[in-house]
Amino acid sequence: MIKVQFSARDGLWPTYEEALGEACADLGLKIDLSRDHAPETVDYIVFAPNGPVTEFPRYTRCKAVLGLWAGVESIVGDATLTQPFARMVDDGLTEGMVEWVTGHVLRHHLGLDQDICRSDAEWDIHIPPLARDRRVGILGLGALGAACGAALAQLNFDVAGWSRSPKDLPGIACHHGDAGLADVLAHSEILVLLLPRTPATENVLNARTLAQMPKGAVIINPGRGPLIDDEALLAALETGQVSHATLDVFRVEPLPEGHAFWAHPNVTVTPHIASETRPVSAARVIAENIRRGEVGEPFLHLVDRTAGY
Ligand code: NAP
Repeated sequence: MIKVQFSARDGLWPTYEEALGEACADLGLKIDLSRDHAPETVDYIVFAPNGPVTEFPRYTRCKAVLGLWAGVESIVGDATLTQPFARMVDDGLTEGMVEWVTGHVLRHHLGLDQDICRSDAEWDIHIPPLARDRRVGILGLGALGAACGAALAQLNFDVAGWSRSPKDLPGIACHHGDAGLADVLAHSEILVLLLPRTPATENVLNARTLAQMPKGAVIINPGRGPLIDDEALLAALETGQVSHATLDVFRVEPLPEGHAFWAHPNVTVTPHIASETRPVSAARVIAENIRRGEVGEPFLHLVDRTAGY
């Protein structure tokens, strides 16, 4: 029997108990899934940073820590985590992000908010450009950024993207490195942030880089709050350099009462809901990694501790 410790917030347990049980059974894995195994008996930990397991040294026989979250910044630097650590790449989570990003890009592209007439005085026809004439940028071309870029390219948007390493993705003009960032910023009438939070990505949008974007650009951030220098964004909204920011993630969550983003007419706040890990599809990813661990195959989606994501 493979002992699997589940460590995430309490409310998730009933859903994952069923989903993990089924996904493991489908792969012929006999697991003993619990929230309170003795640490020294545990073979795998299914992990979210808001669960009860916060240190790993007592998990002496644990073959891998299998994360339920895509973002790993709160755990990647933990010196007590010496086991292989995989993050979540889940097709349900990816689909959710594609839908959210596409929806918000289309909202700004089509001017959906402006075009609602509330009286005949507002019968002011403006025709948006076609997607082929709208330049969209994506910072981060990983599991989520690449999928969002593909969906936007499918809709005919003129898509450019930026990553750390060079890439070749159909429908996306791919850039990397410092010079690449300037190119993507200059391209982006609408910019989507799907970078992880690392020391290298903190404040990637700041006064200097915001000024490199077209006047009136729109920022959509479902990545992480610290990717943006908040004060620089507010200043850019003030001058009209940025016309709107749709923000799903923040330096402090929930966004504190009284924060300038709440009342700003050109900021849309959403409560970190762009996309969630979906239990049924995520359980299949976890089960596949347990299968791999049992037969000595490499784990999927291992985190690069040096790069921090
Ligand atoms: P991923 O697969 O690890 O992709 C990250 C991308 O960022 C990669 O393309 C990577 O480049 C690029 N990158 C990292 N550091 C960089 C740097 N210094 N310069 C340029 N590019 C850099 O991550 P993912 O699964 O797509 O997720 C992205 C982020 O989305 C997560 O880290 C998390 O913060 C956020 N997220 C938010 C929600 C939500 O509900 N709001 C849900 C899920 C995830 P390479 O390809 O060259 O490595």
